[in-house]
Amino acid sequence: MRAEIKGLNEECGVFGVWGHEDAAAITYYGLHSLQHRGQEGAGIVVSDKEKLKIQKGMGLVNDVFSEEKLSRMNGSAAIGHVRYTTAGDSDFINCQPLLFNSQTSSLALAHNGNIVNATALKRQLEHQGSIFQTTSDTEVIAHLIKRSGYPNLTDSIKNALTMVKGAYALACLVEDAMIVALDPNGLRPLAIGKLGDAYVVSSETCAFDIIGAEFVRDVQPGELITINDEGMHIDRFSLTTNRSLCSMEYVYFARPDSNVDGINIHMARKNLGRVLAKEAPVEADVVTGVPDSSISAAIGFAEETGIPYELGLIKNRYVGRTFIQPSQALREQGVKMKLSAVRGVVEGKRVVMVDDSIVRGTTARRIVKMLKEAGAKEVHVRISSPPIVNPCYYGIDTSTKGELIASTKSTEAILEELGADSLSYLSVDGLMEGIGRDDSSPNCGQCLACFTGSYPTEIFPEADHPYDKVMGGK
Ligand code: SF4
Repeated sequence: MRAEIKGLNEECGVFGVWGHEDAAAITYYGLHSLQHRGQEGAGIVVSDKEKLKIQKGMGLVNDVFSEEKLSRMNGSAAIGHVRYTTAGDSDFINCQPLLFNSQTSSLALAHNGNIVNATALKRQLEHQGSIFQTTSDTEVIAHLIKRSGYPNLTDSIKNALTMVKGAYALACLVEDAMIVALDPNGLRPLAIGKLGDAYVVSSETCAFDIIGAEFVRDVQPGELITINDEGMHIDRFSLTTNRSLCSMEYVYFARPDSNVDGINIHMARKNLGRVLAKEAPVEADVVTGVPDSSISAAIGFAEETGIPYELGLIKNRYVGRTFIQPSQALREQGVKMKLSAVRGVVEGKRVVMVDDSIVRGTTARRIVKMLKEAGAKEVHVRISSPPIVNPCYYGIDTSTKGELIASTKSTEAILEELGADSLSYLSVDGLMEGIGRDDSSPNCGQCLACFTGSYPTEIFPEADHPYDKVMGGK
Protein backbone atom coordinates (compact mmCIF):
# COMPACT_ATOMS: atom_id res chain seq x y z
CA MET A 1 0.00 0.00 0.00
CA ARG A 2 1.32 3.37 -0.95
CA ALA A 3 0.69 4.98 2.41
CA GLU A 4 2.55 2.21 4.22
CA ILE A 5 5.60 2.53 2.01
CA LYS A 6 5.88 6.29 2.30
CA GLY A 7 4.51 6.70 5.80
CA LEU A 8 3.02 10.14 5.28
CA ASN A 9 -0.60 9.24 5.09
CA GLU A 10 -3.02 10.95 2.78
CA GLU A 11 -6.28 12.34 3.89
CA CYS A 12 -9.23 11.56 1.61
CA GLY A 13 -10.62 12.05 -1.85
CA VAL A 14 -14.02 13.32 -2.92
CA PHE A 15 -15.80 12.98 -6.22
CA GLY A 16 -19.22 13.99 -7.51
CA VAL A 17 -21.32 14.01 -10.65
CA TRP A 18 -24.50 15.83 -11.61
CA GLY A 19 -26.65 15.14 -14.68
CA HIS A 20 -25.41 11.76 -15.96
CA GLU A 21 -27.55 8.64 -16.21
CA ASP A 22 -24.63 6.48 -15.06
CA ALA A 23 -23.79 8.69 -12.09
CA ALA A 24 -22.89 5.82 -9.72
CA ALA A 25 -20.63 4.09 -12.26
CA ILE A 26 -18.89 7.38 -13.16
CA THR A 27 -18.32 8.00 -9.45
CA TYR A 28 -16.90 4.49 -9.06
CA TYR A 29 -14.33 5.17 -11.80
CA GLY A 30 -13.60 8.60 -10.35
CA LEU A 31 -13.01 7.14 -6.88
CA HIS A 32 -10.81 4.44 -8.35
CA SER A 33 -8.49 7.10 -9.73
CA LEU A 34 -8.44 8.80 -6.31
CA GLN A 35 -7.63 5.55 -4.50
CA HIS A 36 -4.12 6.82 -3.59
CA ARG A 37 -5.79 9.40 -1.31
CA GLY A 38 -7.40 6.79 0.92
CA GLN A 39 -7.57 3.02 1.05
CA GLU A 40 -9.46 2.29 4.24
CA GLY A 41 -13.01 2.83 3.06
CA ALA A 42 -15.11 3.98 0.14
CA GLY A 43 -18.69 5.04 -0.41
CA ILE A 44 -21.15 6.43 -2.93
CA VAL A 45 -24.50 8.17 -2.43
CA VAL A 46 -26.72 8.43 -5.49
CA SER A 47 -29.78 10.61 -6.06
CA ASP A 48 -32.66 9.75 -8.38
CA LYS A 49 -34.14 13.20 -7.63
CA GLU A 50 -36.59 11.67 -5.16
CA LYS A 51 -34.42 9.90 -2.66
CA LEU A 52 -30.77 9.28 -1.82
CA LYS A 53 -29.30 5.77 -1.67
CA ILE A 54 -26.00 4.80 -0.11
CA GLN A 55 -23.45 2.01 -0.47
CA LYS A 56 -20.23 2.12 1.51
CA GLY A 57 -17.77 -0.16 3.18
CA MET A 58 -14.25 -0.74 4.44
CA GLY A 59 -11.48 -1.44 1.99
CA LEU A 60 -10.51 -0.47 -1.54
CA VAL A 61 -13.04 0.82 -4.08
CA ASN A 62 -12.91 -2.56 -5.84
CA ASP A 63 -13.60 -4.40 -2.59
CA VAL A 64 -16.59 -2.25 -1.70
CA PHE A 65 -18.38 -2.08 -5.07
CA SER A 66 -19.38 -4.79 -7.49
CA GLU A 67 -21.16 -4.47 -10.82
CA GLU A 68 -24.24 -5.87 -9.19
CA LYS A 69 -24.18 -3.31 -6.35
CA LEU A 70 -23.65 -0.43 -8.75
CA SER A 71 -26.49 -1.60 -10.98
CA ARG A 72 -28.84 -1.11 -8.03
CA MET A 73 -27.77 2.53 -7.64
CA ASN A 74 -29.94 4.29 -10.17
CA GLY A 75 -29.84 8.03 -10.41
CA SER A 76 -28.33 10.92 -12.32
CA ALA A 77 -26.33 12.47 -9.48
CA ALA A 78 -23.86 11.04 -7.00
CA ILE A 79 -21.09 11.91 -4.61
CA GLY A 80 -18.36 9.54 -3.45
CA HIS A 81 -15.48 9.38 -1.04
CA VAL A 82 -12.33 7.39 -0.40
CA ARG A 83 -11.15 7.49 3.16
CA TYR A 84 -7.94 7.44 5.05
CA THR A 85 -8.41 7.94 8.77
CA THR A 86 -6.96 11.11 10.17
CA ALA A 87 -9.80 12.10 12.48
CA GLY A 88 -12.23 9.62 13.94
CA ASP A 89 -11.81 5.90 14.20
CA SER A 90 -11.19 3.68 11.25
CA ASP A 91 -14.45 1.80 11.10
CA PHE A 92 -17.50 1.38 8.93
CA ILE A 93 -19.59 3.98 10.70
CA ASN A 94 -17.07 6.69 9.82
CA CYS A 95 -16.91 5.76 6.14
CA GLN A 96 -18.22 8.53 3.95
CA PRO A 97 -20.34 9.92 2.46
CA LEU A 98 -22.43 10.40 5.59
CA LEU A 99 -26.15 10.30 4.83
CA PHE A 100 -28.78 12.01 7.00
CA ASN A 101 -32.47 11.45 6.36
CA SER A 102 -35.21 13.65 7.75
CA GLN A 103 -38.98 14.02 7.23
CA THR A 104 -38.52 16.68 4.60
CA SER A 105 -35.25 15.92 2.81
CA SER A 106 -32.00 14.01 2.90
CA LEU A 107 -28.43 15.29 2.97
CA ALA A 108 -25.23 13.45 2.06
CA LEU A 109 -21.79 14.85 2.86
CA ALA A 110 -18.29 13.90 1.77
CA HIS A 111 -15.31 15.81 3.07
CA ASN A 112 -11.56 15.91 2.52
CA GLY A 113 -9.53 17.68 5.22
CA ASN A 114 -9.76 18.23 8.95
CA ILE A 115 -11.79 20.61 11.04
CA VAL A 116 -9.41 22.03 13.62
CA ASN A 117 -12.15 23.20 15.97
CA ALA A 118 -14.24 20.01 15.61
CA THR A 119 -13.88 19.00 19.26
CA ALA A 120 -15.05 22.38 20.55
CA LEU A 121 -17.94 22.51 18.08
CA LYS A 122 -18.99 18.97 18.94
CA ARG A 123 -18.99 19.76 22.64
CA GLN A 124 -21.14 22.81 22.00
CA LEU A 125 -23.55 20.89 19.75
CA GLU A 126 -23.89 18.06 22.26
CA HIS A 127 -24.63 20.64 24.90
CA GLN A 128 -27.46 21.85 22.67
CA GLY A 129 -28.86 18.34 22.30
CA SER A 130 -27.16 16.93 19.20
CA ILE A 131 -26.45 13.21 19.27
CA PHE A 132 -23.50 12.05 17.17
CA GLN A 133 -23.46 8.70 15.42
CA THR A 134 -19.83 8.80 14.30
CA THR A 135 -16.51 10.10 15.55
CA SER A 136 -15.88 11.79 12.21
CA ASP A 137 -15.56 15.58 12.19
CA THR A 138 -17.66 15.62 9.00
CA GLU A 139 -20.73 14.92 11.11
CA VAL A 140 -20.10 18.18 12.93
CA ILE A 141 -20.63 20.04 9.64
CA ALA A 142 -23.89 18.13 9.06
CA HIS A 143 -25.23 19.08 12.50
CA LEU A 144 -24.27 22.71 11.98
CA ILE A 145 -26.08 22.72 8.62
CA LYS A 146 -29.19 21.11 10.06
CA ARG A 147 -29.25 23.51 13.00
CA SER A 148 -28.67 26.65 10.94
CA GLY A 149 -32.41 27.17 10.59
CA TYR A 150 -32.31 28.95 7.23
CA PRO A 151 -35.15 28.10 4.85
CA ASN A 152 -32.82 27.20 2.01
CA LEU A 153 -29.92 24.77 2.05
CA THR A 154 -27.34 27.08 0.50
CA ASP A 155 -27.76 29.64 3.27
CA SER A 156 -27.65 26.89 5.89
CA ILE A 157 -24.36 25.57 4.50
CA LYS A 158 -22.91 29.08 4.24
CA ASN A 159 -23.85 29.75 7.84
CA ALA A 160 -22.43 26.43 9.03
CA LEU A 161 -19.13 26.98 7.25
CA THR A 162 -18.57 30.34 8.91
CA MET A 163 -18.27 28.41 12.22
CA VAL A 164 -15.89 25.77 10.93
CA LYS A 165 -12.12 26.27 10.97
CA GLY A 166 -9.55 24.18 9.17
CA ALA A 167 -9.33 22.35 5.89
CA TYR A 168 -12.35 21.18 3.95
CA ALA A 169 -13.07 20.34 0.38
CA LEU A 170 -16.72 19.50 0.75
CA ALA A 171 -19.28 17.82 -1.51
CA CYS A 172 -22.95 17.74 -0.45
CA LEU A 173 -25.80 16.02 -2.23
CA VAL A 174 -29.51 16.57 -1.77
CA GLU A 175 -32.34 15.37 -3.98
CA ASP A 176 -32.23 18.36 -6.31
CA ALA A 177 -28.67 19.74 -6.12
CA MET A 178 -25.01 19.04 -5.57
CA ILE A 179 -23.15 21.69 -3.60
CA VAL A 180 -19.37 21.94 -3.26
CA ALA A 181 -17.33 24.26 -1.07
CA LEU A 182 -13.67 24.92 -0.29
CA ASP A 183 -12.32 26.37 2.95
CA PRO A 184 -11.17 30.03 2.92
CA ASN A 185 -7.52 28.91 2.87
CA GLY A 186 -8.06 26.43 0.06
CA LEU A 187 -5.81 23.91 1.82
CA ARG A 188 -6.99 20.99 -0.30
CA PRO A 189 -7.48 20.85 -4.06
CA LEU A 190 -10.95 20.61 -5.62
CA ALA A 191 -11.71 20.91 -9.31
CA ILE A 192 -14.79 21.06 -11.54
CA GLY A 193 -15.08 19.43 -14.94
CA LYS A 194 -17.68 18.66 -17.59
CA LEU A 195 -18.57 15.34 -19.10
CA GLY A 196 -20.85 16.18 -22.01
CA ASP A 197 -23.68 18.11 -20.32
CA ALA A 198 -22.94 16.61 -16.91
CA TYR A 199 -20.84 18.32 -14.23
CA VAL A 200 -18.17 16.48 -12.29
CA VAL A 201 -16.15 17.51 -9.23
CA SER A 202 -13.02 15.84 -7.97
CA SER A 203 -10.23 16.24 -5.45
CA GLU A 204 -7.83 15.75 -8.35
CA THR A 205 -8.02 16.29 -12.08
CA CYS A 206 -6.61 12.81 -12.81
CA ALA A 207 -10.18 11.54 -12.29
CA PHE A 208 -11.37 13.71 -15.20
CA ASP A 209 -8.94 12.06 -17.61
CA ILE A 210 -10.05 8.59 -16.55
CA ILE A 211 -13.73 9.30 -17.25
CA GLY A 212 -13.14 11.48 -20.32
CA ALA A 213 -14.24 14.76 -18.70
CA GLU A 214 -12.83 18.19 -19.47
CA PHE A 215 -11.38 20.40 -16.77
CA VAL A 216 -13.41 23.59 -16.25
CA ARG A 217 -11.96 25.35 -13.21
CA ASP A 218 -10.48 24.89 -9.74
CA VAL A 219 -12.86 25.70 -6.90
CA GLN A 220 -11.48 28.85 -5.26
CA PRO A 221 -11.05 29.34 -1.49
CA GLY A 222 -14.26 30.49 0.17
CA GLU A 223 -16.47 29.48 -2.77
CA LEU A 224 -19.73 27.60 -2.52
CA ILE A 225 -20.89 26.24 -5.85
CA THR A 226 -24.37 24.87 -6.46
CA ILE A 227 -24.89 22.54 -9.41
CA ASN A 228 -28.44 21.57 -10.39
CA ASP A 229 -30.54 21.12 -13.51
CA GLU A 230 -30.29 24.86 -14.19
CA GLY A 231 -26.49 24.72 -14.35
CA MET A 232 -23.69 25.91 -12.09
CA HIS A 233 -24.10 28.84 -9.72
CA ILE A 234 -20.96 30.26 -8.06
CA ASP A 235 -21.40 31.93 -4.70
CA ARG A 236 -19.12 32.75 -1.76
CA PHE A 237 -19.46 32.01 1.94
CA SER A 238 -16.28 33.86 2.92
CA LEU A 239 -14.91 37.07 1.50
CA THR A 240 -11.71 36.83 3.51
CA THR A 241 -9.58 34.24 1.79
CA ASN A 242 -5.91 33.39 1.66
CA ARG A 243 -4.98 30.48 -0.59
CA SER A 244 -2.68 28.18 1.38
CA LEU A 245 -2.64 25.02 -0.67
CA CYS A 246 -0.90 22.12 1.03
CA SER A 247 2.66 21.98 -0.36
CA MET A 248 2.70 18.23 0.21
CA GLU A 249 0.06 17.81 -2.50
CA TYR A 250 2.80 18.79 -4.94
CA VAL A 251 5.57 16.93 -3.13
CA TYR A 252 3.85 13.65 -2.43
CA PHE A 253 0.08 13.24 -2.22
CA ALA A 254 -1.40 14.06 -5.60
CA ARG A 255 -1.05 11.79 -8.61
CA PRO A 256 1.60 12.83 -11.16
CA ASP A 257 -1.05 13.16 -13.88
CA SER A 258 -3.10 15.65 -11.86
CA ASN A 259 -2.86 19.42 -12.19
CA VAL A 260 -3.37 21.64 -9.17
CA ASP A 261 -3.95 25.34 -9.84
CA GLY A 262 -2.69 24.78 -13.38
CA ILE A 263 0.57 23.10 -12.33
CA ASN A 264 1.16 19.51 -13.34
CA ILE A 265 2.27 17.42 -10.37
CA HIS A 266 4.91 15.41 -12.27
CA MET A 267 6.46 18.60 -13.68
CA ALA A 268 6.43 20.25 -10.24
CA ARG A 269 8.20 17.22 -8.72
CA LYS A 270 10.73 17.19 -11.54
CA ASN A 271 11.47 20.85 -10.87
CA LEU A 272 11.87 20.10 -7.16
CA GLY A 273 14.48 17.51 -8.13
CA ARG A 274 16.24 20.05 -10.36
CA VAL A 275 16.38 22.69 -7.63
CA LEU A 276 17.53 20.06 -5.13
CA ALA A 277 20.36 19.10 -7.48
CA LYS A 278 21.47 22.74 -7.64
CA GLU A 279 21.24 23.16 -3.88
CA ALA A 280 22.89 19.85 -2.94
CA PRO A 281 25.00 18.43 -5.79
CA VAL A 282 27.01 15.26 -5.28
CA GLU A 283 29.48 13.14 -7.27
CA ALA A 284 27.69 9.88 -8.11
CA ASP A 285 27.17 7.22 -10.79
CA VAL A 286 23.39 6.75 -10.75
CA VAL A 287 20.27 8.52 -9.49
CA THR A 288 17.30 6.50 -8.31
CA GLY A 289 13.94 7.52 -6.84
CA VAL A 290 11.91 5.80 -4.13
CA PRO A 291 8.77 4.57 -5.93
CA ASP A 292 6.32 5.95 -6.78
CA SER A 293 6.13 9.56 -5.72
CA SER A 294 9.88 10.30 -5.76
CA ILE A 295 10.54 9.09 -9.28
CA SER A 296 9.66 12.43 -10.89
CA ALA A 297 12.00 14.31 -8.53
CA ALA A 298 14.76 11.76 -9.21
CA ILE A 299 14.38 12.30 -12.97
CA GLY A 300 14.69 16.07 -12.41
CA PHE A 301 17.79 15.56 -10.25
CA ALA A 302 19.33 13.34 -12.93
CA GLU A 303 18.54 15.78 -15.75
CA GLU A 304 20.05 18.69 -13.85
CA THR A 305 23.26 16.88 -12.91
CA GLY A 306 23.72 14.72 -16.00
CA ILE A 307 24.02 11.64 -13.76
CA PRO A 308 21.96 8.85 -15.37
CA TYR A 309 18.58 8.02 -13.85
CA GLU A 310 18.14 4.28 -13.23
CA LEU A 311 15.47 2.06 -11.73
CA GLY A 312 17.47 1.16 -8.65
CA LEU A 313 14.39 0.39 -6.55
CA ILE A 314 11.35 -1.63 -7.59
CA LYS A 315 8.01 -1.65 -5.85
CA ASN A 316 6.05 -4.87 -5.57
CA ARG A 317 2.62 -3.75 -6.78
CA TYR A 318 0.66 -6.75 -5.65
CA VAL A 319 0.93 -6.46 -1.88
CA GLY A 320 -2.73 -5.92 -1.00
CA ARG A 321 -4.17 -5.23 2.42
CA THR A 322 -5.11 -8.89 2.90
CA PHE A 323 -1.66 -10.21 1.99
CA ILE A 324 -0.13 -12.35 4.74
CA GLN A 325 2.72 -10.19 6.03
CA PRO A 326 5.99 -11.95 6.88
CA SER A 327 6.68 -12.51 10.56
CA GLN A 328 9.47 -10.56 12.26
CA ALA A 329 11.68 -13.65 12.00
CA LEU A 330 11.11 -13.97 8.25
CA ARG A 331 11.67 -10.24 7.80
CA GLU A 332 14.98 -10.57 9.59
CA GLN A 333 15.90 -13.33 7.15
CA GLY A 334 15.45 -10.81 4.39
CA VAL A 335 11.87 -11.30 3.22
CA LYS A 336 10.94 -7.89 1.84
CA MET A 337 7.44 -7.35 0.60
CA LYS A 338 7.18 -3.83 -0.66
CA LEU A 339 10.44 -2.65 -2.18
CA SER A 340 13.50 -4.31 -3.67
CA ALA A 341 16.84 -2.87 -4.73
CA VAL A 342 18.01 -3.80 -8.23
CA ARG A 343 21.46 -5.29 -7.70
CA GLY A 344 22.39 -5.04 -11.37
CA VAL A 345 21.86 -1.26 -11.22
CA VAL A 346 23.40 -0.32 -7.88
CA GLU A 347 26.21 -2.84 -7.30
CA GLY A 348 29.57 -1.09 -7.02
CA LYS A 349 27.94 2.31 -7.73
CA ARG A 350 27.73 5.61 -5.92
CA VAL A 351 23.94 6.00 -5.72
CA VAL A 352 21.87 9.16 -5.22
CA MET A 353 18.64 8.04 -3.55
CA VAL A 354 15.95 10.71 -4.00
CA ASP A 355 12.99 10.55 -1.62
CA ASP A 356 10.21 13.09 -1.19
CA SER A 357 10.26 13.34 2.60
CA ILE A 358 11.47 11.86 5.86
CA VAL A 359 8.95 11.56 8.68
CA ARG A 360 10.24 9.09 11.28
CA GLY A 361 13.26 7.94 9.31
CA THR A 362 12.47 4.24 9.56
CA THR A 363 11.64 3.74 5.87
CA ALA A 364 14.65 5.75 4.66
CA ARG A 365 16.94 3.74 6.94
CA ARG A 366 15.53 0.49 5.57
CA ILE A 367 15.99 1.60 1.96
CA VAL A 368 19.57 2.78 2.51
CA LYS A 369 20.32 -0.61 4.08
CA MET A 370 18.67 -2.38 1.15
CA LEU A 371 20.76 -0.44 -1.38
CA LYS A 372 23.97 -1.15 0.54
CA GLU A 373 23.11 -4.84 0.84
CA ALA A 374 22.60 -4.88 -2.93
CA GLY A 375 26.19 -3.67 -3.30
CA ALA A 376 25.90 0.14 -3.53
CA LYS A 377 29.33 1.63 -2.77
CA GLU A 378 27.88 4.90 -1.48
CA VAL A 379 24.30 6.06 -0.84
CA HIS A 380 23.60 9.80 -0.92
CA VAL A 381 20.12 10.66 0.32
CA ARG A 382 18.48 13.71 -1.22
CA ILE A 383 15.05 14.80 0.03
CA SER A 384 12.87 16.86 -2.31
CA SER A 385 11.17 18.78 0.51
CA PRO A 386 12.43 20.62 3.62
CA PRO A 387 12.67 18.82 6.98
CA ILE A 388 9.21 18.14 8.48
CA VAL A 389 9.43 19.55 11.98
CA ASN A 390 5.80 20.33 12.83
CA PRO A 391 2.63 18.23 12.83
CA CYS A 392 -0.14 18.85 10.33
CA TYR A 393 -3.60 19.77 11.59
CA TYR A 394 -5.23 19.77 8.18
CA GLY A 395 -5.82 16.13 7.41
CA ILE A 396 -2.34 14.74 6.91
CA ASP A 397 -1.05 12.22 9.38
CA THR A 398 2.47 13.39 10.12
CA SER A 399 2.45 11.97 13.68
CA THR A 400 3.18 14.02 16.75
CA LYS A 401 6.04 16.47 16.84
CA GLY A 402 8.08 14.14 19.04
CA GLU A 403 7.87 11.39 16.40
CA LEU A 404 9.14 13.62 13.60
CA ILE A 405 12.80 12.77 13.39
CA ALA A 406 13.80 16.21 12.05
CA SER A 407 12.19 17.96 15.00
CA THR A 408 14.31 16.11 17.51
CA LYS A 409 17.57 15.39 15.65
CA SER A 410 20.09 17.38 13.63
CA THR A 411 20.74 16.49 9.99
CA GLU A 412 24.11 14.99 11.06
CA ALA A 413 22.41 12.78 13.66
CA ILE A 414 19.78 11.68 11.11
CA LEU A 415 22.51 10.89 8.58
CA GLU A 416 24.17 8.67 11.13
CA GLU A 417 20.88 6.95 11.90
CA LEU A 418 20.17 6.34 8.21
CA GLY A 419 23.62 4.85 7.66
CA ALA A 420 23.98 6.87 4.44
CA ASP A 421 27.04 8.71 3.11
CA SER A 422 25.39 12.12 2.86
CA LEU A 423 21.98 13.68 3.44
CA SER A 424 20.52 16.94 2.17
CA TYR A 425 17.04 18.43 2.10
CA LEU A 426 15.50 20.97 -0.23
CA SER A 427 15.22 24.46 1.28
CA VAL A 428 11.84 26.16 1.79
CA ASP A 429 12.77 28.73 -0.89
CA GLY A 430 13.78 25.86 -3.16
CA LEU A 431 10.40 24.23 -2.58
CA MET A 432 8.54 27.36 -3.62
CA GLU A 433 10.84 27.90 -6.60
CA GLY A 434 10.44 24.30 -7.75
CA ILE A 435 6.65 24.29 -7.54
CA GLY A 436 6.58 27.71 -9.20
CA ARG A 437 3.10 28.85 -8.23
CA ASP A 438 2.17 32.17 -9.78
CA ASP A 439 0.99 33.90 -6.64
CA SER A 440 2.19 37.17 -5.16
CA SER A 441 1.48 36.24 -1.52
CA PRO A 442 4.59 35.70 0.64
CA ASN A 443 4.24 31.89 0.58
CA CYS A 444 3.10 31.76 -3.07
CA GLY A 445 -0.32 30.65 -1.84
CA GLN A 446 1.07 27.52 -0.20
CA CYS A 447 0.83 26.09 3.27
CA LEU A 448 4.35 25.46 4.56
CA ALA A 449 3.41 24.88 8.20
CA CYS A 450 4.96 21.45 8.64
CA PHE A 451 8.30 22.96 7.60
CA THR A 452 8.06 26.44 9.12
CA GLY A 453 5.49 26.19 11.93
CA SER A 454 3.53 29.08 10.42
CA TYR A 455 -0.02 27.71 10.27
CA PRO A 456 -2.44 29.47 7.93
CA THR A 457 -5.38 29.14 10.35
CA GLU A 458 -5.89 29.45 14.05
CA ILE A 459 -4.96 26.15 15.68
CA PHE A 460 -6.15 24.78 18.97
CA PRO A 461 -4.38 23.23 21.96
CA GLU A 462 -3.03 19.71 21.43
CA ALA A 463 -5.78 18.29 23.65
CA ASP A 464 -8.26 19.38 21.01
CA HIS A 465 -6.57 17.29 18.34
CA PRO A 466 -7.26 13.62 18.75
CA TYR A 467 -5.86 13.15 15.25
CA ASP A 468 -2.51 14.55 16.34
CA LYS A 469 -2.00 11.50 18.49
CA VAL A 470 -2.89 8.74 16.10
CA MET A 471 -0.95 6.49 13.81
CA GLY A 472 2.63 6.32 12.81
CA GLY A 473 4.71 8.03 10.20
CA LYS A 474 7.54 6.51 8.26
S1 SF4 B 1 1.04 21.44 7.46
FE1 SF4 B 1 2.19 20.47 5.78
S2 SF4 B 1 1.05 18.60 5.27
FE2 SF4 B 1 -0.32 19.93 6.47
S3 SF4 B 1 -1.45 21.16 4.97
FE3 SF4 B 1 0.33 22.37 5.54
S4 SF4 B 1 1.91 21.79 4.02
FE4 SF4 B 1 0.30 20.24 3.94
